[in-house]
Amino acid sequence: MRYDSHCHLSPEINEKLYHDSVREYLRIKDFPINLMMTNHIDENIIRLILQDDNILENECIRLNVGIHPWFSHLYTFLKKYVGETSESFKKRHYESVLEKYSKKINSSIDALLEVLPEPIPISKKIAEFNKLISLSFGNRINIGEIGLDKFARIPLSGYLCNPVVSTTGLSNYKVTMSHQIQIFEQFLELAIQFNKSCSIHCVGGYGLMYDIIKQSKVTRIVMHSYSGSVDSALMLRKLPGKNVWFGISDFVNFCNGISDKVKELIPLISDRILVETDFGIDKMGNDHFEYVDEVITKLSKVGIDLDNLWQNWLLFCDGEDKNNNPGYKTYTQSYK
Ligand SMILES: [Zn+2]
Repeated sequence: MRYDSHCHLSPEINEKLYHDSVREYLRIKDFPINLMMTNHIDENIIRLILQDDNILENECIRLNVGIHPWFSHLYTFLKKYVGETSESFKKRHYESVLEKYSKKINSSIDALLEVLPEPIPISKKIAEFNKLISLSFGNRINIGEIGLDKFARIPLSGYLCNPVVSTTGLSNYKVTMSHQIQIFEQFLELAIQFNKSCSIHCVGGYGLMYDIIKQSKVTRIVMHSYSGSVDSALMLRKLPGKNVWFGISDFVNFCNGISDKVKELIPLISDRILVETDFGIDKMGNDHFEYVDEVITKLSKVGIDLDNLWQNWLLFCDGEDKNNNPGYKTYTQSYK
């Protein structure tokens, strides 16, 4: 059996696209997928899915709530002062969470401020997600995609695929690490509260990531499209009291063919590998299976067979701690 442990709605998603090309697809009953949330736009689609009994009856669909680090600047910890204008609040927030990508380049934040939306209060979001997970279908919701990205630059349009701005290219700004960490930690707290698994994006900064995970009480982690070193992987999986999985995608892990690093890493973590595409299901359409097979074929060349990958998925879904996972029974039974 095949599955996709980490996929998305593409950043171009909207309600029409969802109804035209995604909704029916989510009713396929023998292809398990773990669908991420990244920002306020695909959040609306995830909410539509969560209100749709015809999809929810399909046990193969797992959903996530989260904010991807590329969109973390759109969320704020600040409060609007009494009488403060939207413009001034926006400026105050974005100036506190964005910094220059290259200090050597002269740039002004003003052009970005014109295209960026009024920031969304993070406390309100977390409270809403808390409520979603507390509802009866909450056992189908995990946390993702969240994490840290040291190198991501803010697009000139304010954020990737901003539907109201057509400017392309990248600005000279990035989200400060401290803001990314703060947002990331909000979701780790949510994961701890409900014993959820987290799908984590990490680009650069593996040392920092390791420290945060080590200090946190979070127990179930997927390092998705794992791009760190062999040593970091071994350190992560040795963390006591934590079940760490490694998502492997064609796009990130096999971008240079089967590299020496991949050949060394994969056999060391074979019991912890999950197959993923990291693509938008609206974009892949009927080719979704082929994207998954591409990863499976390459993993087979480094000695990992399909049954190994399927057993890993079952263990991941069932939760390693059966007593603490309300979804355990339903999930195992749906694959019998
Ligand atoms: Zn992703």
